[in-house]
Amino acid sequence: GVTPVLSALINRLLCAHDGRMELKDLYFQVSILNLNDEVETVLKDTSMFVTTGDEDKVVVAKTKLRLCRVKDCENCSNLHLCKLYLFGECPYIKSRGCRFCHDLYLGHNVNVLHQHNLMHMDRSELCIILLQNDTTLLPPVCFTYNRGSGEYGNCPDKEACNRLHVCENYIRGICEGTKCSRSHDFYEPHPMKTLQAKGVPSQLMGSLLPAYKNMLTIRDANRISYSNTPATSPAQSFSVIRLAADTNIAQKLTSVAVQEVKLVFKTPPIITSAGT
Ligand SMILES: [Zn+2]
Ligand SMILES: [Zn+2]
Ligand SMILES: [Zn+2]
Ligand SMILES: [Zn+2]
Repeated sequence: GVTPVLSALINRLLCAHDGRMELKDLYFQVSILNLNDEVETVLKDTSMFVTTGDEDKVVVAKTKLRLCRVKDCENCSNLHLCKLYLFGECPYIKSRGCRFCHDLYLGHNVNVLHQHNLMHMDRSELCIILLQNDTTLLPPVCFTYNRGSGEYGNCPDKEACNRLHVCENYIRGICEGTKCSRSHDFYEPHPMKTLQAKGVPSQLMGSLLPAYKNMLTIRDANRISYSNTPATSPAQSFSVIRLAADTNIAQKLTSVAVQEVKLVFKTPPIITSAGT
């Protein structure tokens, strides 16, 4: 059916927008497909999407896919990929060699991506979706730091803490800056140190605020076992074609680009009448 392909497409679309989109923007982008009913059905899958918000609903990309950390793993349903390569570049390839896989198109990985409806994703797209879902990749927000006052709040580990000392409200976009003494900058010494200890390279720093924000959204949704209300179709007149159709995606696994989300339908799902 069309559903896994549509799920994969929507996930790629979300990743091209920092892992989250307003629902109405999402519908606008996929309106060319004439599949609004199917999109609505796909978005109800709470293992793959979190829909949140009251009036301006937002969709966040979710997945059960994780990076495999098992040494010499023979078979599992997780991705066999070097974390540093996922983050951008693995510095060990050139020097002493790296024992982790750097091939996203390895048979195992292609199968696993299919299982999770993440087919045709490239490295940077996977990085986006995994950063906000695989909670082992980034240091967690330090919630004791976010309580109390003073330089370290109530954090018992203070300077030695390996969790993220950044204002949780800032990450959520609800901090009233001037009154708040907590850190609102991932580049401050403490957050920078904990991020670097996790292998986060400088080129990824700009992706961290949306990644943490989405991570908290997903966590909240899991915690209250959010009952996903049906997505309502937004208003009607969608005419702009923003997505380029790709009729032969299967052979183009290696040429996908994050900036250019392509449709992955082999045949148009709906035959429209002739004429304009
Ligand atoms: Zn494995
Ligand atoms: Zn590596
Ligand atoms: Zn702490
Ligand atoms: Zn704050």
